Amino acid sequence: MATIRTDVLGHLQSAGVEMLVGTVVNPAGLTHAKVVDVARVPAFAESGLGVSPVWHVFTIDRSGIAYTDRFGAVGDQRIRVDLEAVRVIGDHVAWAPADFVEQSGEPVQACARGTLRRVTDRLAAAGLTAMVGHELEFSLVGPDGEAIGSTMWAQYGLAGVLEFEDFVRDVVASARRAGVELAQIHPEYGANQFEVSLAPLAPVAAADQLVAARMVIGRAARRHGLRACFSPKPFHDGVGNGAHQHFSLTDADGPLLSGGDGPHGLTARGGAAIGGVVAGLPDVQAVLCGSIVSGLRVLPGFWAGAHACWGTENREAAVRFIEAGPTNPLGANVEVKIVDPSANPYLATAAILGLAADGVERGATLPPETTVDPASQSDAERDAAGTVLLTGDQTAMLDALEASTVARSALGDEVIEATLAVRRYEASTYGDRSPAELAQLFRMAWSV
Ligand code: GLU
Ligand code: MG
Repeated sequence: MATIRTDVLGHLQSAGVEMLVGTVVNPAGLTHAKVVDVARVPAFAESGLGVSPVWHVFTIDRSGIAYTDRFGAVGDQRIRVDLEAVRVIGDHVAWAPADFVEQSGEPVQACARGTLRRVTDRLAAAGLTAMVGHELEFSLVGPDGEAIGSTMWAQYGLAGVLEFEDFVRDVVASARRAGVELAQIHPEYGANQFEVSLAPLAPVAAADQLVAARMVIGRAARRHGLRACFSPKPFHDGVGNGAHQHFSLTDADGPLLSGGDGPHGLTARGGAAIGGVVAGLPDVQAVLCGSIVSGLRVLPGFWAGAHACWGTENREAAVRFIEAGPTNPLGANVEVKIVDPSANPYLATAAILGLAADGVERGATLPPETTVDPASQSDAERDAAGTVLLTGDQTAMLDALEASTVARSALGDEVIEATLAVRRYEASTYGDRSPAELAQLFRMAWSV
């Protein structure tokens, strides 16, 4: 530890860093920050900085606190930056993700990063290693969150790249400098909507990289007089922003999702992992896409994966399977499409991998593959594959989460309690608003 500390401090100082920003993400998907002078980096990493337990239950209206017995005015915790994950962002700024610890130094169960680490430990106990790759869609808007012109915008169009060329180049260069590995950036379907895909990493590192990417994108947008909107539904009559997550699993015998005897080369354990995820999606929807805006996006026909089923390269399936092959150097993987950017990415991965672990542990059945748009099927066809339409109703999602043993075993009681608190606050405070009002009210809630 002493060596890491000395090396990191020396590295930051020689890179001209003046301040370190440490961040945590809460169950409402909000990113919170504390800053220290570079000389105080060791203190931020070792004793940590004090925060109230209510950080776990700050709400998306930017002023509310969804108090519970556990998360109240009394008590104190620490956030500690992880110096192994520090990045120099540029302009004399460094960034690192932080973990919550109790004043005793024990881990805080509600810590999202710690929760994901517990799930990777559970996978390791079953002999499994996961890799995770994030996608992030966002919409460019004006400084006050207002829509900006899109006269020349066309879906995936070159015009979008040229219109925002300086911003795009800035994102590419800033990401490179921050060590954020962009696999690609491209204009998306919606007006002024872009997507970045990030290279796969181990689960915690991948979520860290996503937070760093948001910071890079947010900073670049500001430099160009813009803001990046990470709402699942920026405008109620437009397309949504997804935050799809890809994962793959390996055991001592090699990849689980290729080289086996099952459909498309799936191994028995790989099929069970997918079976576990498909079966458990309704249980953890509140963690993957559970904000009050999320239900406006999870609709058939918008490539958000509104039906819980799986299919190879099926963009209307919540679980899209991507085969190994010569044009896929990363190997076979699974994309969970319903995740949106209002989710806490650490908790969303913990939920997905928790379902995969559950599937492997209990030898879950792989349902029949859905090879067409599930909305085009008859009820009987959907029933035969066990396909259900995921709900857009926030209260139903939250009730399912509360009742789920598989979610509780993956995430723990504290994460479930905080998630229910912040999302039920949204439902009870804003549940009577129209889709247009909700999209407008929370358009910038997850922006940085
Ligand atoms: N924008 C879509 C979503 O809300 C995803 C489009 C795509 O498949 O990339 O998830
Ligand atoms: Mg996309």
